[in-house]
Amino acid sequence: MSVHDLIGIGFGPSNVALAIALEEQRQNACDIDAVFIEKQPQFAWHRDMLLEGADMQISFLKDLATLHNPRSRFTFINYLFEKGRLQDFINLKTFFPSRCEFNDYLAWAAGQFDRQCAYREEVIEVAAEKRGGAVSLLRVLSRDGTGKTRERRARNLVVSIGGAANIPECFRHLQGNSRVFHSSQYLSSITKLDRARRIAIIGAGQSAAEIFLDLHGRPNAPAVELIMRGHAMHPSDNSPSVNEIFNIEFIDYMYRRPPEVRSRLLSEFRHTNYAAPDIDQIEQIFRILYAQKVTGCSRHSLLTRHQTRAARASSAGIQLQLLDTDSQQSCQKDYDAVILATGYTRTNYQALLEPLAPYLPDFEVGRHYRLKSAPELKPAIFIQGGCETTHGISDTLLSIIAVRSHEIAAALIGEAGGDIGRLTEERVTA
Ligand SMILES: Cc1cc2nc3c(=O)[nH]c(=O)nc-3n(C[C@H](O)[C@H](O)[C@H](O)COP(=O)(O)OP(=O)(O)OC[C@H]3O[C@@H](n4cnc5c(N)ncnc54)[C@H](O)[C@@H]3O)c2cc1C
Repeated sequence: MSVHDLIGIGFGPSNVALAIALEEQRQNACDIDAVFIEKQPQFAWHRDMLLEGADMQISFLKDLATLHNPRSRFTFINYLFEKGRLQDFINLKTFFPSRCEFNDYLAWAAGQFDRQCAYREEVIEVAAEKRGGAVSLLRVLSRDGTGKTRERRARNLVVSIGGAANIPECFRHLQGNSRVFHSSQYLSSITKLDRARRIAIIGAGQSAAEIFLDLHGRPNAPAVELIMRGHAMHPSDNSPSVNEIFNIEFIDYMYRRPPEVRSRLLSEFRHTNYAAPDIDQIEQIFRILYAQKVTGCSRHSLLTRHQTRAARASSAGIQLQLLDTDSQQSCQKDYDAVILATGYTRTNYQALLEPLAPYLPDFEVGRHYRLKSAPELKPAIFIQGGCETTHGISDTLLSIIAVRSHEIAAALIGEAGGDIGRLTEERVTA
């Protein structure tokens, strides 16, 4: 079995950017044999949320390359140029392309690395290969769609698997029920429920707002209830001053702070990204709700200050037990389907690396995304997208991907055109 210099788990934007960085740094340094493993059958960026009318929440200039190398051939502008749409895009006068177009851009970039990516394989375990007292290599076990497993060995690993659907405790026993699903499965699940008349959405963030608007426009015209714990929908703050927290320099600032200051910063800027739809979406929802008041038709509703306490499958669909957090009164409501727009958890990489946990104290990550490890563990393991608590809110977004991937590539290759073996011989100072 051959040994790869690097295995990248997942081939979403983070690892596509890494493939680009490795290619662009190759001119200055050695070639490294990198392979990426992706569980989807082909590249797709949050496929089940590619809704009509959904736009990017970030400037297209924060693409896979521009912030590090505006002259890269992998920029969004070069994509437009190659597709023959540069002038037409300019005429739109926007920084925020549709998510469908950005997905097409990302797929175009990913497609240039097809030979390096094994699609349709899910990595199910990463284990240690020991020689003497040390772990010299990593064994990466994957399973394809037919259930067949395959093992590859690697000198270094970059884990970029995105978030895992956050399923609130009271819904966990209903996983597998086709009438209860997370926003990350929205399109493929809702198309199977075209007879659903009453649908609840749990959550008050961007995905909840987008799904509300999508359901409003569906031909079967379901009645939608948006259920949230808070008093109101808060718009995301993307004003120029607040946006500075997404600048590269802020990562250093954040990383150097003690843990209590970091968590204060995360909660201070929470409304830039969490439970905070774009103001346009909130306005659209309220226009719809107002139009209902004019016509007297009350199809949709907003249920604020309500918490779901329990959920059960009933003959009528899904029954929710809801607590009014003001009056402390409970009520029961029936829906044909419930959509959980409840966000993502970001510690899923730890489950994948569990067999290595004895070498990875508290899964602590260094400034340049390498997991700090016991000296016996020779391979370097990097994490992309799982470092929000230490590196800031930008970590899970596209904001810093172009620069982060170059930092990791530089560490992998060795700054002075060194060889990949250096990483396995030396400790990278965190
Ligand atoms: C609906 C939606 C819209 C968003 N819009 C924006 C936006 O406008 N701007 C912005 O900055 N951010 C946005 N984000 C945040 C998003 O996290 C980033 O845009 C980006 O997707 C992060 O890239 P990633 O590669 O780190 O993670 P992901 O895009 O999640 O990619 C991870 C990849 O790993 C694969 N994978 C997971 N586990 C395994 C495994 N065990 N084996 C093999 N493959 C695996 C997955 O299939 C996936 O392809 C959005 C997120 C969502 C959910």
